[in-house]
Amino acid sequence: MRPSRVEIDLSAVAHNVGVFLERIEPAGLIAVVKANAYGHGDVPVAGAALDAGASWLAVAMVEEAARLREAGIDAPILLLSEPPADDASEISRWDLIPSVYRPEFVEALSVSVDRPTAVHLLIDTGMHRVGAAPVRAVGLAQQIAASGNLHLGGVWSHFAVAEEDEEFSRLQRDVLSEAVAAIEAEGIDPGIVHLPNTAGALYIRPESAMARVGLGLYGLHPDPSRPIADLQPAMRVVSRVSFTQRLPAGARPSYGRRRPLSAESNVATVPIGYADGVPRLLSQRGGEVLIGGRRHPFAGTVTMDQIVIDCDDDDVVVGDEVVLIGRQGSEEITADEWAERTDTISWEIVCGIGDRLPRSYHR
Ligand SMILES: *Cc1c(COP(=O)(O)O)cnc(C)c1O
Repeated sequence: MRPSRVEIDLSAVAHNVGVFLERIEPAGLIAVVKANAYGHGDVPVAGAALDAGASWLAVAMVEEAARLREAGIDAPILLLSEPPADDASEISRWDLIPSVYRPEFVEALSVSVDRPTAVHLLIDTGMHRVGAAPVRAVGLAQQIAASGNLHLGGVWSHFAVAEEDEEFSRLQRDVLSEAVAAIEAEGIDPGIVHLPNTAGALYIRPESAMARVGLGLYGLHPDPSRPIADLQPAMRVVSRVSFTQRLPAGARPSYGRRRPLSAESNVATVPIGYADGVPRLLSQRGGEVLIGGRRHPFAGTVTMDQIVIDCDDDDVVVGDEVVLIGRQGSEEITADEWAERTDTISWEIVCGIGDRLPRSYHR
């Protein structure tokens, strides 16, 4: 069996849920498990988050919700954007809570649901991705209230810069409050009003009935330079040395022959590559892995299925554990470290950890 794998610590997920519940009290927690729970495995993570006190789940699309339902999960599931109108009938089929923001979709939904269905109205307060303009909030709320099978279960919005701009975030909060007040003034109950994501719950802390927490569940901080809560990373990416060789100074391992070894070295090959989510850029930007509790640099370019590591004079043998993300002994490499080296964010790193790597789960 391929020794490269992803180990997920479900106790870390449970711990992180507890951290957020304490922080957002008395608000409820919506565990955001889209994109296969940010690469961590949606069904096991959803189960662990619900057991630890999350009230709802949220996903990006119907297919992701269907996977959870097929696994027997019966918690409320919020869809974070409107599916294509053709899929409106899937909402009843899987018993989902859709977000809505286009009158055309509300219309399609109202004729396709086969039972009373709560919908959450998404207001665009400045993110400008999806959502209804604030001036349309009342009209949509009225359309929902007037449609036979639908009712307004909630009103929500999404922060664009909660980890870096408090002023803009407070403006977004105020625009949402005004839209909610306008809906109430028409005699319509807005239902559950929710706003913060992970960064909002950590750094802005607006009043909100629920928080939609993704990244923080997995133990990562939106701004790693401000680690203000005790979060535990849940993902470890590990492999084993598959081949070793002693190479002379000046040898240039891997594609492109980019870098000469500065001295005679033990070079280890590890069967994991960019097809598994190890960014090719990592080997050009000083990336390292852990073997024997020590950091070792890449000896050459990341390839699709394998990497080469410069182990200096350390005795490294076939079968030695290699940690790409996670702790080994007293050393640790984080998803944040990969993100910083490759000019991206930890969200993209963990989502990119490929399906080709088997996941194992432990508590
Ligand atoms: C992905 C997403 C979240 C979760 O964001 P994190 O920053 O990972 O906590 C919350 N709300 C919406 C609308 C999202 O798309």
